[in-house]
Formats: sequence, structure tokens, C-alpha cells
Amino acid sequence: MPRTFGSISAVPPGAIFNSRRELADAGVHRPLQAGISGSGAEGADSIVVSGGYEDDADYGDVVVYTGHGGNDPGSGKQVADQILERGNLALARSSDQGLPVRVVRGAGGDPAFSPASGYRYDGLFFVAEYWQDIGKSGYRVWRFRLVQDQPSANETPAGGPAPGGDPGVKYSTVQRVVRNTAVTQWVKELHDFVCQVCGERLQTDSGGYAEGAHIRPRGRPHNGPDVIKNVLCLCPNDHVRLDRGAIVISDALEVVDRRTGTVETGLRLARGHRPDLQFLAYQRSLWK
Ligand SMILES: [Zn+2]
Repeated sequence: MPRTFGSISAVPPGAIFNSRRELADAGVHRPLQAGISGSGAEGADSIVVSGGYEDDADYGDVVVYTGHGGNDPGSGKQVADQILERGNLALARSSDQGLPVRVVRGAGGDPAFSPASGYRYDGLFFVAEYWQDIGKSGYRVWRFRLVQDQPSANETPAGGPAPGGDPGVKYSTVQRVVRNTAVTQWVKELHDFVCQVCGERLQTDSGGYAEGAHIRPRGRPHNGPDVIKNVLCLCPNDHVRLDRGAIVISDALEVVDRRTGTVETGLRLARGHRPDLQFLAYQRSLWK
């Protein structure tokens, strides 16, 4: 069965399960033992937070989750360094790709946020950040800061249904989180994560990194659609420049420094993906 990212239909947040077997049967979290479900190539689709790691921290809408490996299951203490592989690499991939992660809390976790018994599905989170740290026991651990999703209507998560035309709202927290959708993922993969403005391809340990930039911005009052013709594959710098109007794109598909009016370069194109001129005109109209 293909891995499902995002919500499982018929399982609302707050649903209680008596065992890992029940969680697996419902498709909420498939592995019966591992805390992280996922692969380095695809990303992580779900985690279980159950207090097995001494370096975990739960703040309710934010979970600082310790990667797996090097842990003595009896004491919960680290006895070796963790490596960015398997589930850890999967969570890193989810962070780089903006994929939603189903979070399940078990009875062994922080009592303030955990169910009294069994397991509770607590909805979708995004991996806002990950980093290496020295844990309480002195070994290297990987830490992942997961932030609870604030759902916006009509949004199609990556890995979800085929590209559609739903409007949505860009998501930001203290950290800059760029939401991924099936449409932006498609565009990024088409360009192999190469920025259409500068030609850079950012390489991270988990693969390429790029951002899907909506030319006509999403959210009110612009209500730009989440469709392929309204999305560019950009590096973070050029994404910010586009969003801030530092660059605009002409009808001849030239990238223009708006303040000086000089043409920087031609927009890099890929077969099967061409921005719609009406969206380029809209973006220019915002920065006259
Ligand atoms: Zn760039």
C-alpha cells in the first residue's frame, strides 16, 4: 500500500486507540514498534510520542521529538549517538518537503498532553526545524520541532489528490514554514529542485530543497489559485524576492529587478510547465 500523507479519512483528531495494532489497522501509524513511520526517500507520515526518549519535550501545539536509535528501551536513556538515517532521515525529508505528519500521543508521554491510557490521534503537524544536539546522557541526538497544523480550508496536502484549483492560505510561524501541496511538489520535482531564477539547486542530506512559489499570492485578498500555471520552483532567496516584489517577471518571461528595471536573466522553463501571463501581470500590479 502506498504511504498516505495527511489525514486518514474517518479518523478525526482526538480518536482513541487501545493498542498499536489498532493504530496500525486504522492506517494512522503502521509500524507496530517503531515510533517513526516513513522512509528517507518519501518522508515520514506519522510518529508516536510516548515518552520513550528522555530528550523529548511536549508543549501541546509544539513537540520537540527525538529521533530514533542509540536508545535503551528499558531505561529510555541514550547509550549511543544517533545517525540521520531511516526514520530520522524520513523526518528530515518531511521538513524539507513540507509534508504533514500525523502525531499520535501514547499514555507514556507528558501527562499534561497525553491520554490516560492507550493512544490518541492528535492531528497533523509540520516539521518546522531539525538539528543535532547533545542529549541529557551526553550522546548525539537528532531533534525535530513539530508544529501543529492550523488547517486552512480547501488545501490539498502533498501526496494527496491530483493538482486542483483550491485557494488556500500560506502558513507562517516564528520559523518560516512554506506549505507544500500536491501542486507545488509536482512543480518542484519537474524542475528537480533547481531554482527557475538563479539555477541553484540546494542539496541537503535528505535530497534537493526548493520552494513552490505562488505568483499570484494565495490567501485573501489575492486568492491566487494553487495550480501549476501559478507556481514557480524557486530557491528560498528568490522566493522571498518574488513575494516582496524585488523581482517581477515580464510577459517575455524575463526576470526583472523591479527597482532598477534591468533584466537579470530569463526564467528557466521545463517542458509541460509555463506560467500563465495573467498571474505574472497580477504579481507585477502589486509592485508598481
Ligand atoms: Zn534562486
